[in-house]
Amino acid sequence: MTGYKRVALIGLGLIASSMAHAIRQHRLADEIVGHAKSAGTRETALEIRLVDRVCETAAEAVQGADLVVLCVPVGAMGAIAAEIAPHLEPGATVTDVGSVKQAVIAAVAPHLPGHVHFIPGHPLAGTEHSGPRSGFATLFVNRWWLLTPLEATPPEPVARLRGFLETLGANVDLMDAHRHDLVLAVVSHTPHLIAYTMVGVADHLRRVTHEEVIKYSASGFRDFTRIAASDPTMWRDVFLTNKEATLDILGRFTEELFILQRAIRMGDGDQLFDYFTRTRAIRRGIIEAGQDTAAPDFGRGGPERG
Ligand code: NAP
Repeated sequence: MTGYKRVALIGLGLIASSMAHAIRQHRLADEIVGHAKSAGTRETALEIRLVDRVCETAAEAVQGADLVVLCVPVGAMGAIAAEIAPHLEPGATVTDVGSVKQAVIAAVAPHLPGHVHFIPGHPLAGTEHSGPRSGFATLFVNRWWLLTPLEATPPEPVARLRGFLETLGANVDLMDAHRHDLVLAVVSHTPHLIAYTMVGVADHLRRVTHEEVIKYSASGFRDFTRIAASDPTMWRDVFLTNKEATLDILGRFTEELFILQRAIRMGDGDQLFDYFTRTRAIRRGIIEAGQDTAAPDFGRGGPERG
């Protein structure tokens, strides 16, 4: 069986709304129930008929659900888990979509009763948009969805969740949570921090920001601004909770930056050329792995991994 009877989506932003559209499209649930913190988001979800039923509380939303998906910022996961724990259906699967895994496991697992299966997850798919109107059914197609199951979790609920996510279009892999956080620090978290920094630097140069930087932003800077437009709450929580791995990668990044800085200062063209040749090969590898397009617009318009 790949579907579930009742899916409860806690949080109704980009990821949850994309899941809702995809679940509907593939008829993967008899009923989708949703909850979000603010009345405004709940009203929007009702207005656009994002889910079948919108609940005032997370506790109410999870009642009778055989799949519960926590789609809130990483820092909000623990409190939600504490709230829903007494209301979870025996045998239900609880998963999450948080961008960091060790911190979510530490915050959520202690609250959950032994009669549910907690299978942490993370779709490597997203855009810089957020909120209930930002989702679309194809967000997860051909994107990785990493699951980091706990040792005690039996294989059957993991296989069932895997089948469900694969029907949403995702490629599912199982991974250890520690490894997940390190890998994501390299491929997503640190690049986002660099984008935020670069846009921040331009903002400091206020003299040019409002004129030349905006006017001539057709090059790399424009891609940085798109990434740096990502949701501030989500990314604040990512850096607060994936601290160790991000600081490790940032340290390595700074060392590399100094090497390039020195090559520029010394006029070492060979070193710069060799360096850029190596990085170009990595880009080719990503395209060959089907994770981006070779289109000359730099893949703009396509989904961005989050
Ligand atoms: P989003 O569009 O900003 O939506 C977040 C949702 O969570 C909103 O509906 C918000 O409700 C709700 N929420 C926040 N705190 C809550 C609480 N205490 N109780 C109930 N609802 C609460 O965010 P998103 O992009 O979908 O991200 C959700 C999760 O997915 C995050 O953990 C993020 O790390 C992960 N993720 C994101 C991406 C990406 O690229 N965006 C990719 C992969 C994974 P209100 O609207 O009422 O505030």
